[in-house]
Amino acid sequence: MSATRYSATTGLVHEEPLLFEQAHEQHEAMALPGCAAEEAPSPLASFLRQKPAGIPGLSEPEVVRHFVRLSQWNHGIETGFYPLGSCTMKYNPRVHEQIARMPGFAQAHPDQPEDSVQGLLSLLFELQQALGEITGLPHVTLTPAAGAHGELVGIMMIRAWHDARGDDCRRTVLVPDSAHGTNPASASLAGMRTVELKSGPDGQIDLTELKSRLDDRVAALMLTNPNTTGRFESQIAEICDLVHQAGGLVYGDGANLNAIVGKARPGDMGIDCLHINVHKTFATPHGGGGPGAGPVAVNEALAPFLPVPRIERQGEQYRIVRSCPQSIGPVFGSIGQVGVLLRALAYIRAFGRDHLHRIAEDAVLNANYILHRLKDAYHVPFPGLCKHECLLTDKFQNRHGVKTLDLAKRLIDLGFHPMTIYFPLIVHGAMLIEPTETESRRTIDAFCDAMLEIARACEKGEVQPMLDAPTKPFRRRLDETRAARKPVLVWPERANGSSADRS
Ligand SMILES: *Cc1c(COP(=O)(O)O)cnc(C)c1O
Repeated sequence: MSATRYSATTGLVHEEPLLFEQAHEQHEAMALPGCAAEEAPSPLASFLRQKPAGIPGLSEPEVVRHFVRLSQWNHGIETGFYPLGSCTMKYNPRVHEQIARMPGFAQAHPDQPEDSVQGLLSLLFELQQALGEITGLPHVTLTPAAGAHGELVGIMMIRAWHDARGDDCRRTVLVPDSAHGTNPASASLAGMRTVELKSGPDGQIDLTELKSRLDDRVAALMLTNPNTTGRFESQIAEICDLVHQAGGLVYGDGANLNAIVGKARPGDMGIDCLHINVHKTFATPHGGGGPGAGPVAVNEALAPFLPVPRIERQGEQYRIVRSCPQSIGPVFGSIGQVGVLLRALAYIRAFGRDHLHRIAEDAVLNANYILHRLKDAYHVPFPGLCKHECLLTDKFQNRHGVKTLDLAKRLIDLGFHPMTIYFPLIVHGAMLIEPTETESRRTIDAFCDAMLEIARACEKGEVQPMLDAPTKPFRRRLDETRAARKPVLVWPERANGSSADRS
């Protein structure tokens, strides 16, 4: 098998074999001499596999080239614009990377004595305080390892709160049909029954529908504000009142706080519990599933149920508190994804209390700029100003036989990572574009020009390039259903088409 190398900057480069996949046998290769000192026997020796692992025989340079090549085939925020709506791919300042990698942080052991990590604990405590202030929900756990994990933790706390009041019949969680798929999944994982709320024609929560679903079994409403259509739920105060009057709590999906950070606080809106994807709002290289962190912020009522360990200040000392009577218990192996949390604090500190609102202002301005430039060429399902992301559809292009997937693939050939497509599910042929505050006008204009070029080509009936796209990357259009349903995760299987030698 050979592969054509594609570089975003120079286009097609040259063909080279996928050495990693071709090398089956152990064969001789240059290796650096091992350590001269005698090795101590590993305490794990008896657990080590006795059979050869079937790892391909390659020299060190070949291995390095393999992984560097893979990284070049990938698209990242550092190779180009990455306007994934809801996922928030923003530039990660280099200095924040350096901070997260300082040996005192990166090499700290999760079980190190508190006294030896006071500096680290003081920063994590500061982040807890900052997130409490930003959200208006003063009690914060940093431990959840992702947004979805934060949702699970939040719903577990809500459930524990109801149970502690003897209200243990409340097992229903209402989730709008515009919600991120993790919302119903997390609620189910926490042992709850989810009931879908149909959005109104404006993409917002429909109060009549909400009222009809509220009863004495409802534990919580899970909502996202701004919601996934990029709109602020303008009736948020009334929504929270209705849920509270019915004895439920309001869970906020704060995966993406970009539109409101430093401007408005979920706690002030009536939300009781909220997770924050710090790997979205406060930068962190994320994608491909990690790494991330999903701290959860709660009000006074839910505070006793926060998971352990907790970081507390006692006088001048920071302590890791490992047991609390009403806590839902531990939800992660340590105090949290420290590297991600430090990047978040660095991002918050870089703006500072007085300028945090600029994140929201610039993110919203950039999204509206794109909306304004594209609104005649693409169908806008919910007209008017948007928040941090703008929503378009493929309705006009459908007339020419082109759909959202084709438009997205064509963008790759024009040098851009596509936007989020077919989400939210309530909008047919959705394209959700989130530029973030970190992009320059020049980059955003280049993206809009590409989108307009695609729309013009469709109008002229020049649709073949859309249907053939992408032609430039080394993989063409993939069978995404098969990739999701039947993933091939073991290298020998892919190399020789069998599952041999996986022992
Ligand atoms: C990204 C996202 C999530 C899930 O966060 P993960 O860290 O990927 O688990 C939940 N809700 C919304 C609105 C999101 O955008």
